[in-house]
Amino acid sequence: MLKYLIYISAGYLIFKVIKNGVYLVLENIQKPKELKETTELVQCDQCGSYFKESSLLHHNGKVFCSEICKQEFSKK
Ligand SMILES: [Zn+2]
Repeated sequence: MLKYLIYISAGYLIFKVIKNGVYLVLENIQKPKELKETTELVQCDQCGSYFKESSLLHHNGKVFCSEICKQEFSKK
């Protein structure tokens, strides 16, 4: 009976290690994807500089890097 208990605990430990290993692998696969999405650069319609899309302002179908650029563009 003790023999079976050892097998079960050993099996459980192996299962845990594999599970953590798979989790780590999946995490490493997902990380570069996230980075790629957040570092996608978009050009400001006023000054022409490139910025992260998340930091840009959207206005009338145009994108601006700052409130200043947005105002400069409206002046035209
Ligand atoms: Zn700009």
